[in-house]
Amino acid sequence: MNRTVTVPASKIAVLDEVDVVVCGGGPSGFVAAIAAARQGARTLLIEQYGFLGGMATAALVGPIVKFNWQGRRIVGGIPWEFVETLAKHDGAIIDWPSGAVPFDVEVYKRIAAKMVENAGVSLLLHTRVTDCLLNRPGKVDYVVVENASGRHAVKTKYVIDCTGIGAVVVKAGLPWRLRKKAQNQLQPMSLLFRLGGVDTDHLENTQMKEEGVKYFNRRLRTAFENSELGRKMLFGGPWLIHGSTIRRGEVTVNMTRYPGSGADVKDLTAAELRLREDIARIVPLLRQLLPELKQSYLIDTATQVGIRETRSITALYNMTVDDILQPKPFPDTVAKGAHPIDVHQYADSGQEVRFISKDYNIPYRALAPRGSQNVLVGGGSVGATAEAFASIRVQAQCMALGEAAGTAVALCLEQGGCAVHEPAGAAVRQRLHEQGAIVDL
Ligand SMILES: Cc1cc2nc3c(=O)[nH]c(=O)nc-3n(C[C@H](O)[C@H](O)[C@H](O)COP(=O)(O)OP(=O)(O)OC[C@H]3O[C@@H](n4cnc5c(N)ncnc54)[C@H](O)[C@@H]3O)c2cc1C
Repeated sequence: MNRTVTVPASKIAVLDEVDVVVCGGGPSGFVAAIAAARQGARTLLIEQYGFLGGMATAALVGPIVKFNWQGRRIVGGIPWEFVETLAKHDGAIIDWPSGAVPFDVEVYKRIAAKMVENAGVSLLLHTRVTDCLLNRPGKVDYVVVENASGRHAVKTKYVIDCTGIGAVVVKAGLPWRLRKKAQNQLQPMSLLFRLGGVDTDHLENTQMKEEGVKYFNRRLRTAFENSELGRKMLFGGPWLIHGSTIRRGEVTVNMTRYPGSGADVKDLTAAELRLREDIARIVPLLRQLLPELKQSYLIDTATQVGIRETRSITALYNMTVDDILQPKPFPDTVAKGAHPIDVHQYADSGQEVRFISKDYNIPYRALAPRGSQNVLVGGGSVGATAEAFASIRVQAQCMALGEAAGTAVALCLEQGGCAVHEPAGAAVRQRLHEQGAIVDL
């Protein structure tokens, strides 16, 4: 339908006035909020669900990678503090040689909220950021939020878009593009689920512990490929792992796939419906295919389908595959990565993995949309091509980028409220280094 309707102008109450609004409480968002608040910024974190963690808790994706490269830690700071705190509360395993950190979803939700609270962040859950009001191009004055209490505005000096899909960047009229390789070919969405009643003592595969992403269950893949269902169905892996559960007898299963865009509500709706049906057919078959799964049962499907990629900002610096494969020593390095270039094929059951030879650097400029005065991003909408993002896209890196964005905003405030491109990237790096982040200084 091509019809339009005019929405009448309305006055809405101003709910709050803060230094920084962080939009989205996923891995990048809750870390960004903690970083900003610990450095004295009055920080408001806004999340549409009733809990924090984004894809880690709502989409059940895990384990958290990539903390290590060849046995050396490459992400420290708040992300590592978070997983250490999880482990102290029996909510994570942090000593796998691969550096991958499986976790317990419920402990994750609780500890993320506790750390946010302890940092002095104000938190609005069940609240969606729906718009931005600008006083000049690139300068957001208010974010508009909607929740059970109605529609309100929040006045702010800075905004960090951690929605994973660049939702605020779009509303702020800042430049972005979809990361598709070809027409509509984003990486597929996947609905994860958890199984109980699994003989994990025998299924427990040391490969995931040792090799991280290289691992998938080959025995199951072969059996599934040769089944009637497997011949018809788009699937990946399958990865049966301690990812978003660490309990004996339970695994997270990552194997469903839906080709479509997580920035298109029709695709999102279709994916949720299709993949829950797929899971209902997959689970009984898994019981037949592997003896370790004979007694298994479905615990749950994720709250929402997992979205691997959507929008990239057009940043002051856009990461390319060269920056991943031939790492550069940026003066404004704010995070490091080492995950392989990991592309789940759009329309078949394949996966293209290109391993890297050395850990690489991500500069502060990749978080600043071109033309932005007071908006930064953390996490999923970092300026990067599809290939580069296929490596950057994992949680530890998104958390590290969140810490960088929160820290940069705190520095901007200290410098009298300067534009986000003005603080020297080297100063952001230096501050991160002092906070225990790993930025090769
Ligand atoms: C299928 C799949 C498997 C993956 N496997 C792994 C893995 O094994 N290990 C790993 O480390 N990474 C994995 N990832 C990547 C991981 O999900 C991302 O690295 C991470 O979630 C990015 O964090 P983020 O904070 O940028 O975004 P998200 O996790 O997407 O968080 C965004 C948050 O913003 C909220 N939000 C969105 N819009 C609004 C709005 N308008 N108003 C308010 N709130 C809003 C959302 O509810 C969400 O909480 C996987 C991803 C997928 C999809």
